[in-house]
Formats: sequence, C-alpha cells, structure tokens
Amino acid sequence: MTAAYKYVVVGGGMAADAAVRGIRHQDPNGSLFMVSQERFPPYDRPPLSKALWKKGGRVESLWRGLDYDQMSVDLRLGERAVRIDAAAHELWLAGGAHVHYERLLLATGGAPRELAGHPVGVTYFRTVEDYFRLRRAMLSGHEAVVVGGGFIGAEMAAALTLAGKHVHLVFPEAGVLSRLLPPRLAAAITEDYAQRGVTVHAGRQVAHIEARDNETWRVITDAGDALDASVVVAGLGIVPRVDLMTAMGVDCPDGIVVDALGATAVEDVYAAGDVANFPSPALGRRMRVEHEDHANRHGECVGANMAGQEQAYDYLPLFYSDLFDLGFEAVGRLDSRLATVEDWVEPEKRGVVFYLEDQHVVGVLAVDLWDRMDAARALIVDRQPVGDGSRLRGRLTG
Ligand SMILES: Cc1cc2nc3c(=O)[nH]c(=O)nc-3n(C[C@H](O)[C@H](O)[C@H](O)COP(=O)(O)OP(=O)(O)OC[C@H]3O[C@@H](n4cnc5c(N)ncnc54)[C@H](O)[C@@H]3O)c2cc1C
Repeated sequence: MTAAYKYVVVGGGMAADAAVRGIRHQDPNGSLFMVSQERFPPYDRPPLSKALWKKGGRVESLWRGLDYDQMSVDLRLGERAVRIDAAAHELWLAGGAHVHYERLLLATGGAPRELAGHPVGVTYFRTVEDYFRLRRAMLSGHEAVVVGGGFIGAEMAAALTLAGKHVHLVFPEAGVLSRLLPPRLAAAITEDYAQRGVTVHAGRQVAHIEARDNETWRVITDAGDALDASVVVAGLGIVPRVDLMTAMGVDCPDGIVVDALGATAVEDVYAAGDVANFPSPALGRRMRVEHEDHANRHGECVGANMAGQEQAYDYLPLFYSDLFDLGFEAVGRLDSRLATVEDWVEPEKRGVVFYLEDQHVVGVLAVDLWDRMDAARALIVDRQPVGDGSRLRGRLTG
C-alpha cells in the first residue's frame, strides 16, 4: 500500500526545515513526510566555514533543534527522491518506495560545482560530512590548497589559516571576492590575506591535480606552480538541483521557476530556498539567492502557503560573511560590474558600498557596521532615483 501524506518535503537543509515550521504554523496536524539524502537531520551550514574553526566551535551548535517526532513529521534520512509522477501525485525514492502527496515541496538546494576533469582528492565543501572529512585530513601535513575566490573559498582560506595551516588560495579573478566587491576593497582584502600568511594565487586556475601518495596531492596551476598539500578544498559555487523537475520536461534555466507563493508550473509542486528562482518585487526581477536568511524566510513562507496561507514572498534577504577580522552584511544585488558609491568611515575597513543601476540603489554592503540592513532595504524598496549617488554619503554610516 502506498503511504499517503498531505505534505511531502524533499530536502534536509535549512529551507526544508523552515518549511516544516511554516506548514506546522498553519496546519498542526496534517500528515507530513520529509526525505533527505543526508545522514543528519537539518543543520545550519554557515558555521561550517566559520564558527566551527574558531576556538570553542562545537558541532553540536549546528543542529537546528526542531523536534520532528513532536511535530509528527515522518523523517527519512539517507535516501534520495528520484522521480515525481505528477499525474498520480507520487514521489518515488531511490530504494523503490513511493509516497502519495497532496502538496510537494522541493527544497533540494544545490550540488557543489566541480573542477573540470573531476580530479580526486578534492573536498567540495558543502555538508557536515565534508567538514568531518576535512578535519580528518587536517591531521596530516601543514599545507592546504583552497580553490575559489568567492565566499566559500575566502572563508575556508581564513578558517584553515586560523586552524594553523599554510594556505595557498587559487582563483581566476584579480582579488578575493572580486566578482562582488569594488576593486579597491577586493584588493585590500586580498592584501590582508597575504599579510596573514595566505599565499594568494590571483588570476590563476587549477590546471591539474595528481596524487603524490595516500595523503598528499599536487595541485598544478595554469602558471605552472606545483603546490603540494594534504588538504585541497574547492568552493566553486553550486549547481541548483533541478533534476526532479527537468525529468518531467520542465525547463529550469536558473533553478526551479516559482511564482510569488512558491508554486512551480507543476500542479501542487512548490520549491523554496537555494534552488528556487523567484520574483523579487523589490528588485523588479527574478532572482535565485544562495543565502541563509533567504532559505529560512522563503522556506517558511512557501511551507505556510502550501498549508493554505496565501502570502506573496516580498522579502529582500540579507547575507553576511566573516573574513578573518572583517565582517560584513549585505542586501540586494552585489555585483562589481554595477556602478558603486563608496562611503568609508575608515577606508576599506569600515563603511558602506551602494550598488546602483539606472540611478537606483539595488544593493548595499555594510563593512564592519551593524544594524544597517533595515535602512538599506528601505533604500532599495523605495526605488527613488539617486542621480550619481553622491547624496547617499552619510545615509548609513552615521
Ligand atoms: C560552508 C557554507 C557556508 C555558508 N555560509 C553562509 C553565510 O555565511 N551566509 C549566508 O547567508 N549563507 C551561507 N551559506 C549558504 C547557505 O548555507 C545556503 O543558502 C542554504 O544552506 C540553502 O539552504 P537550502 O535548504 O535551500 O539548500 P541546501 O542547504 O543545499 O539543502 C538541500 C538539501 O536537500 C537534499 N537533497 C537534494 N536533492 C535531494 C533529493 N533528490 N532527495 C533527497 N534529498 C535531497 C540535500 O542533500 C540537502 O540536504 C553557506 C553555505 C555553505 C555550504
């Protein structure tokens, strides 16, 4: 007999967990099944590249603490959902079982993008299991190579340095976070990394990786440098996991396309979190956001909508990062190709960067300044033309 549920959630990340909250807020008793291919119940990913590497960082702090038993959720861990039969409203699992759903949520996130040629020995950093693997690898050798100059690469280079490794950071851009930050700020952060002992290989790609022995890898860059290391970590972004939708013939150009409520083109199928491509009224465009605040807010909103609420998701999520001593928060679009206005209290250390498009603020970055995000959001949502942006100076730094 097929088990039948009112709600079925695919995924075991933050968006799935938040969706369970949203569903239960609206419907405390409707039957609920959640399947995740991870072995662990939902946990927070951001500490994997930050707090866990600092003194006193504990794995126990990751768990999100929803009591699934108490919330009457049938949680199936370590199993993958492989097929949706939309006409029959059935979800098939890799082990051959299937469940019937009334409403289905895909909170499948993304898979780490891999290096070309799929060399062995590389940890693509995404899960708590990756963290455990890295911790084991850290026991041998002093050298580490981190590939990627985005958030994960930058954070992991800082984390491994703080953990006592000598890190080579290899990335193709001119500086750390160059795709997001204005050139002077990216250059200052890159210089700070070098001063803290990181050997920065900017403008470089990995050409080849070979095994030296069971514990050491040789990373060869396109400049011909050979970097021997016991740990090779890559943070190259993610590829949204859309296969359950594409297998039904649904086009997913950049994630699973949803409407303001989180509903997909397939009846009674919803999507939330990193995998969802949603309309942002504040920015007047579609977006896909790979950040914690969005996973939590979108997950909860879409979960509640599945259970009868009808609330459009109009939230503009924030995100944050820690790079050694430098902390920042941001909201909206950060793209170094946009025009920017920089407003520094202390150059490249403390201040605000406004990102402009067509004379409107579309993104705000606050460096070592806190509690500015509500005001930043208001600037973006207001959509008032700001000319060349010079009158923005002092708006958020005071
Ligand atoms: C190391 C690290 C640090 C980060 N730091 C920050 C930060 O500082 N600030 C910030 O804002 N964001 C940060 N992020 C990003 C943030 O963690 C993500 O935006 C968030 O995890 C997305 O949640 P999600 O639930 O949408 O997707 P995911 O976390 O990817 O979860 C998807 C889940 O679905 C499961 N799954 C997928 N397909 C299937 C299937 N077919 N069957 C069963 N299960 C399936 C996956 O195994 C996974 O458990 C960080 C991410 C990482 C990896």
